[in-house]
Amino acid sequence: MMLYYQLFINGEFRDSAHEHNIINPSTGEVIADVAIASPKDVDLAIESARAAFDNGPWPRISLKERKDFLLRIAQGILDKAGELAKLESLNTGKPIKESTFMDVPSSARTFEHFANNLEKYLNSSTIKVDNAHSHLIREPQGVVVLIVPWNYPLLIASWKLAAALAAGNTVVLKPSSLTPLSVLELAKIVQEAGLPKGVVNIIHGSGAKIGEALCADKRVDMISFTGGNTVGRQILEYASKNVKKLIMELGGKSASLVLKDADLELAVNGSLCSIFLNQGQMCTAMSRIFVEDDIYDKFINDFTDKTKRIKLGLAMDYEAQMGPLISEEQRKKICRYVQDAKIQGAKLVCGGKIPEAHNLKKGFFFEPTVLSEVSPKMNIFHEEVFGPVACISKFSTLDEAIELVNMSDFALAGSIWTKGDILAQDLAKKINAGIIWINTYGMFYNEAPYGGFKQSGFGKELGHEGFLEYTRLKNIIIDKTENSKPIINYWYGF
Ligand code: NAD
Repeated sequence: MMLYYQLFINGEFRDSAHEHNIINPSTGEVIADVAIASPKDVDLAIESARAAFDNGPWPRISLKERKDFLLRIAQGILDKAGELAKLESLNTGKPIKESTFMDVPSSARTFEHFANNLEKYLNSSTIKVDNAHSHLIREPQGVVVLIVPWNYPLLIASWKLAAALAAGNTVVLKPSSLTPLSVLELAKIVQEAGLPKGVVNIIHGSGAKIGEALCADKRVDMISFTGGNTVGRQILEYASKNVKKLIMELGGKSASLVLKDADLELAVNGSLCSIFLNQGQMCTAMSRIFVEDDIYDKFINDFTDKTKRIKLGLAMDYEAQMGPLISEEQRKKICRYVQDAKIQGAKLVCGGKIPEAHNLKKGFFFEPTVLSEVSPKMNIFHEEVFGPVACISKFSTLDEAIELVNMSDFALAGSIWTKGDILAQDLAKKINAGIIWINTYGMFYNEAPYGGFKQSGFGKELGHEGFLEYTRLKNIIIDKTENSKPIINYWYGF
């Protein structure tokens, strides 16, 4: 059955003059039509968010009421968990097990986390200085535009939306035009939760067509963007027109270090997850794996052996361990990267092709791929592939390993596999990245901030620090001079 979704503006679902087909990447079939926002719809969405912030109750209601609204959204997600997981998998191609056990419950937990902590996170403080008190209070930023990519549509939207709302902002949220379905389903949950009109507006459309109108508008105070670097740079330009607060979560070229004393089975299994989960379409994918030379051959053998056993399947198949890529365009890009790497001297150990199985023929599938002998002379060493391609290289000394890991314009994440706890922590300090996992990969916590450095962007999501990004700090200074008047007041006074 064909699904149909409308825009969500000022608390109401609305049609528009044009619609856009949404494709199921497992089969290439159209699964939904979604209304496309016109320039007028974008204007209306911003105007609604502005009015809800300036004149509406949301920034002014009690923190207890705000908490209850967010808890209702969390419960709404849990009540519809099965439906949301199915939609997410149909639309993104990620195996249903991942949506069911990771994306959807984690999204609900993010709303719960910010609901339960917003009062603590908004704590004000007072600095007592000579003859004065400086009272520091946290206020919402105002109208926040949230722009979300296609790899974790519901989860990344929830990270942004829960923190922005908990801080008292009103928002215009734009999912990727490839994957809007779960986020538009979230709009229904927001409406059922009874949030005041205009607090949440969700629009759909191509970023190239509506992005500038959305981001350069004077009525918008902040943009929280997650996506690639090309678009990220455009957003920086738009934001510069009116000087806006930004969170930029951009691309990555993260690396794993596997030391000779590592628990090999753990390192192999963890590294498989770090590059093949979600078909490798993760900003934190460990697309470069550096293995100490003593265990290099054994690591490659075990890693390749297990890679070959990964079961590809349609996203709705509970047995599938890897689904299709998001689009034909993405698949072509990945094929090109693998071909170029081979021409530049990398060795193809396994995969590297479109699978031949009959049931996968119509989808955008690509075999999990292992390349070895990847060196800094190759493009694939430096550029984000965003697909299931593991590049494995060896190192001989730890200094060499750190140099290789840090040889990147990105600085998002890293993993270290070793039994030496102290050594691991020392290496973690030397790796240029915003998040380092030791003997694990991909653990995100609502309590702990996440975000990269260098061209991986700036600002944090999650945790207290991530929450504070959606606030502004006001300093109120109160004169406390006793028995005299502050001299500044009399500078020109007589
Ligand atoms: P993308 O940059 O193509 O698109 C991201 C979003 O921006 C989409 O909603 C898109 O519609 C919108 N957009 C496109 N052009 C725009 C414009 N001119 N103005 C405003 N918005 C515009 O990224 P993608 O292909 O959806 O996602 C993959 C990228 O996202 C990868 O580079 C990945 O590393 C990155 N990513 C980063 C993180 C992180 O936390 N650092 C997390 C997930 C994904």
